[in-house]
Amino acid sequence: MIEIGLTGGIGSGKSTVAEMLVERGAVLLDADRIVRDLQAPGGSVFAAMVERWGERIIADDGTLDRQAVAAIVFNDADELEALNGIVHPAVAEELKTQREAVEGSDTIVVLDIPLLVRADGTSDKDRYANLAGIVVVDVDPGVALDRLVAQRGFDENDARARIANQASREQRRAVADVVIDNSGSLDALALQVDDVWSWARALPPAEASDSSGSSCTST
Ligand code: ADP
Repeated sequence: MIEIGLTGGIGSGKSTVAEMLVERGAVLLDADRIVRDLQAPGGSVFAAMVERWGERIIADDGTLDRQAVAAIVFNDADELEALNGIVHPAVAEELKTQREAVEGSDTIVVLDIPLLVRADGTSDKDRYANLAGIVVVDVDPGVALDRLVAQRGFDENDARARIANQASREQRRAVADVVIDNSGSLDALALQVDDVWSWARALPPAEASDSSGSSCTST
């Protein structure tokens, strides 16, 4: 198994690159997605959260009422800690299970890490020391903004605020082993993903992993 990290700002094209890597045979580990799955009705995290906070965190349609959860943990360190204590171990465990399923093979595993570099420029790079390399998808914030509005239906001001409230391109590029420039067409992007794929295949396989490398970015 060769495990690489993938990060990039909102609208950079990180999900698009992840998909292209999966098309080439990679296995994608996506902590945000795991959180969403485990928080869906019937999921273990959903059940644990309802056990702690009761029916008031269930919306009328039976799904998790995220605003109700946010209101509970907002400005309450104990409740936030309780939430993290429910979510983080469950996600780490699921990531471990998914990783173990491909351990010992020559599979390339891509770990999606949206917040590898925080808004203040600090990074969790040390926590991901087990990764064979880190790929950063880089694009001009103006291009990211246009794509988010035109293709993903974002409100312009909301997209602008989200972009402003994250690490800069320079901060993110500083942790990269490989930078993908996504300022061009999707075809140009695919060619770079081919290069990343060749690069990743040539990396030395990781030693047996521990539980590190997990990442949680949402409740
Ligand atoms: P992220 O996951 O980094 O937030 P996405 O991969 O969702 O970004 O990309 C944002 C939007 O831009 C999506 O609608 C995606 O299809 C589109 N997109 C990504 N790369 C390109 C590109 N090179 N040319 C045109 N559109 C692109």
